[in-house]
Amino acid sequence: MSQQFAVFGTPISHSLSPQIHSAFGRQAGIDLRYVAIEAGPGDFATKLQAFADAGGVGANVTLPLKTLAAELAASLSERAKRVGAANTLVRGQDNTWHADNTDGVGLVRDLTDRHRLDLRERRTLIVGAGGGARGIAPALLDAGIGELFIVNRTPERADALADMLGQPSRVHARYLGDVAAFGEFDLIINATSATRGGVLAPLPRSLVGRRTAAVDLSYGEAAIPFMAWARATNCRDAIDGLGMLVEQAAESFKVWHGVRPDTNPVFAALSSHSASLVTAD
Ligand code: NDP
Repeated sequence: MSQQFAVFGTPISHSLSPQIHSAFGRQAGIDLRYVAIEAGPGDFATKLQAFADAGGVGANVTLPLKTLAAELAASLSERAKRVGAANTLVRGQDNTWHADNTDGVGLVRDLTDRHRLDLRERRTLIVGAGGGARGIAPALLDAGIGELFIVNRTPERADALADMLGQPSRVHARYLGDVAAFGEFDLIINATSATRGGVLAPLPRSLVGRRTAAVDLSYGEAAIPFMAWARATNCRDAIDGLGMLVEQAAESFKVWHGVRPDTNPVFAALSSHSASLVTAD
């Protein structure tokens, strides 16, 4: 019988994870079934239990459940513990869940391996302080970026993330509305979900320097406004979140199956119709 996997979140119907994991499974010769399950904070625990009772052995978790997933798990990997959020769950022999977070390593792998960016000493700006920002910030610091500024519409969330990272001379939390005051950045990351239900006001051109890479965690239609801003302001690189999506999935696949799939053919297939994709992970 196929091994059972699922992604939980809301909205989830457009998630690409079933497609990505099915492709990885075919590539690795692993018989698996991977479905998308609509779940919000109120019913996630019940639906996860029902999934386990039906034989589910592994799950991905997306917006808005990543913090809750870490709380529900019986044990956490170091990287999930560090960010207080999980995107990957593994069911143990004793029927409890072990939580991991592959978002950060997925982003860094996409930027360094696929896009050949040298992240070292890059003065970095993350716009947003939600689950996505939480997942990527420690991995970026570990990859050797320089100073990190985190700006958010709700400044308290940026403060909380900076406190969690615990490097006050290197990490600075600020209010999004003051962003023009902070000079040029070598790496600017849009980690907001603004295009889901609103708009992110265009960032000032003064943030862009000689070698700025602009990276959106969103992909497909949701990434169009920020990618357009990056091109209009002459950012050297404009990279959307599709590669990160495939890389974080490959890391989850490795956690579950012990093998890391070749991400290039899956990324190429999804990229060919990228603009029509809807962000759901
Ligand atoms: P959260 O809901 O946890 O956080 C959303 C963030 O966006 C908050 O910082 C919020 O600010 C900010 N925001 C929302 N609307 C606006 C607006 N109109 N103007 C300014 N800021 C705004 O979401 P996640 O962090 O989990 O996800 C963020 C994005 O990253 C999503 O689009 C998600 O799909 C994508 N993502 C992609 C991944 C990939 O693999 N490619 C992995 C993880 C995330 P405030 O705190 O003030 O509400």
